[in-house]
Amino acid sequence: MFKIPSFFKKKYIWFLLLAVIVFPVTPLLFNLFLFLKEPVFLPPISQSTQIIIRSDGYGEGYFGARRSGGKRAHNGLDIKADVGEPVYASKSGFARTGWVKTGMGKYVIINHPWGYQTLYGHLNTITIADRQWVWQGRQIGEVGKTGNANYKRMQAHLHFEIRLHNRHLDPLEFLQPGQFVPFFQPQLFLRSIIGQKKSE
Ligand SMILES: [Zn+2]
Repeated sequence: MFKIPSFFKKKYIWFLLLAVIVFPVTPLLFNLFLFLKEPVFLPPISQSTQIIIRSDGYGEGYFGARRSGGKRAHNGLDIKADVGEPVYASKSGFARTGWVKTGMGKYVIINHPWGYQTLYGHLNTITIADRQWVWQGRQIGEVGKTGNANYKRMQAHLHFEIRLHNRHLDPLEFLQPGQFVPFFQPQLFLRSIIGQKKSE
């Protein structure tokens, strides 16, 4: 008959084994918990009626709209909103903040579980710190006209992006009521590790 070595009869060994097994999977469990807790992306702007997409002399704000005279495609969604309107985290995650003179202006990028990222651009102010954890629905800043949104006749808007493994997705699809976040998209994950060139 199999005899348990006396080594395993000491109780602390079991605690040690438990720690060695459970500790490495803790981030995975946490990600799973977040995933179940937040199955959807929330709109980053609270609008009572519906999401209004920017449309003015400088172009259209929908995903894929032509930019730079047709040379590139718009890789986010421009949600029309007034300067100063609060901007909320669409999902929980680890936030980075930045400020560039052109392009995004003042922006926040939030890294979510499972390779998702959301980006919030042209902000007036940022109300969180760099490298900070933010929960879904928390205010992260205010709508502004920084970066290349700083034209008088351009409608104030939030430039909002959703990325999965560095691939830009159409945010409008995810902001429909009841649109669940896909759990895992292996083809995009594989493409990202193989290092296929980004479309934009
Ligand atoms: Zn935009």
